[in-house]
Amino acid sequence: MDYNYLKEIDGKRLHDPLMMPKTMNTSTSSRIWVQGPIIVGAGPSGLAVAACLKQRGIPSLILERANCLASLWQLKTYDRLRLHLPKHLCQLPHMPFPLDFPTYPTKQQFVAYLESYAQSFNIEPDYNTTVLSAEFDHSCNFWRMKTSKVGLKIEESVSIEYVCQWLVVASGENAEEVKPDFEGMDEFRGPIIHTSHYKSGDPFRDKRVLVVGCGNSGMEICLDLCNYNARPSLVVRDTLHVLPQEMLGRSTFGVSMWLLKWLPMRLVDSFLLLVSRLTIGDTDRLGLYRPKIGPLELKKKTGKTPVLDVGTLAKIRNGSIKVFPGVKRFTSHAIEFVDGKLEDFDAIILATGYKNNIPTWLKDNVLFSKKDGHSKKPFPEGWKGENGLYSVGFAKRGLLGTSMDAERVAEDIELQWNLKDSKTMESADQVSESY
Ligand SMILES: Cc1cc2nc3c(=O)[nH]c(=O)nc-3n(C[C@H](O)[C@H](O)[C@H](O)COP(=O)(O)OP(=O)(O)OC[C@H]3O[C@@H](n4cnc5c(N)ncnc54)[C@H](O)[C@@H]3O)c2cc1C
Repeated sequence: MDYNYLKEIDGKRLHDPLMMPKTMNTSTSSRIWVQGPIIVGAGPSGLAVAACLKQRGIPSLILERANCLASLWQLKTYDRLRLHLPKHLCQLPHMPFPLDFPTYPTKQQFVAYLESYAQSFNIEPDYNTTVLSAEFDHSCNFWRMKTSKVGLKIEESVSIEYVCQWLVVASGENAEEVKPDFEGMDEFRGPIIHTSHYKSGDPFRDKRVLVVGCGNSGMEICLDLCNYNARPSLVVRDTLHVLPQEMLGRSTFGVSMWLLKWLPMRLVDSFLLLVSRLTIGDTDRLGLYRPKIGPLELKKKTGKTPVLDVGTLAKIRNGSIKVFPGVKRFTSHAIEFVDGKLEDFDAIILATGYKNNIPTWLKDNVLFSKKDGHSKKPFPEGWKGENGLYSVGFAKRGLLGTSMDAERVAEDIELQWNLKDSKTMESADQVSESY
């Protein structure tokens, strides 16, 4: 099997300062005062808020750990990925998608859109800069942020301390891979990769591949593996809602939003489940058991997103994809499942999702939970914290949530920006002098 592409990913990882052995670093340090807001992350959320601020005449600085914008989309997603939601629900503020883009743009089209978005608003993120910590300094009323910037030569890194009045967290809900630790995992002889390293089914032709996790990525990767003549199986540990991507000729998400304007959530859920039953059939019969509460209510209560079927169910139904319950343990060549079945596999793909990395670098007790970095305030309140702290893209509402947050944050900073007086500048001068 050709796993060369995995080496390429490891090569990219070498450029991640957090992964670098300390002895490789020759570091220098400096401090910079930034007049406008500092934004952490150059994904869609960071770009959106920078653009909204720019529209209001407020300069900002984006710090991004990767060497490109939208690194999640460019470096960590599979080739066949398209937006799961229609483009009009995913566009960023002040710039629609090009008219000739399809309803569900490909990831390449989405990245091209984001690049031209950054260009249109003259946004130039500071790449290769990882924010290591951010803390509000009550003695001067500014945020102090410690960062590490990797130089052109891999062995060079520069520590810079940034000081600013406003800090916008846009580091994403999907900043770090979640990798479960199963008994016997080290003994397994084949490759075990996370979906963030999966590009296509090409290296897995004719192989027995177990995909662990059945969110949108896991389901779609199973389909991709089928298209490359691999033999995929899917682990479905929990109950889940699978819905058709479209119903009545419109996106399921769009239909739900429209119905919610008129009907209570429970009724909309009943409608979604009825149409799903009529179009994609009874998923329980395929081993995909539905939760007791409806898809929208579940999303609201737990943040768990329903899976939108893009053709995987048909492959499960015709036997091309096998479904297994939870994993109990790994052996050198097989997986034992919780129902006692033992099955041989050549490779494992962990579609076990992502988590945010806020608790590792942000010192804050108000806006984000210390435990998991989730927003403490319910939607739509989660965009504003204390002491000039803001967040964009943490409402568990995808790119639509991002656009709403970005507008609100820019509007709120604008009010303070206009009130900004010589006092702020004096304090800034004092901070600079204290260095
Ligand atoms: C496979 C997949 C498909 C998806 N499809 C859709 C879809 O169709 N529609 C939708 O609405 N949503 C979708 N999503 C959700 C997706 O998370 C959002 O679309 C979008 O990427 C969120 O943008 P963001 O800027 O908030 O986060 P990200 O895109 O994750 O960007 C955050 C950026 O912050 C950087 N960063 C993180 N920590 C630090 C640090 N300490 N210092 C400096 N930089 C840092 C990261 O490198 C990254 O570039 C999908 C997600 C995945 C994984």
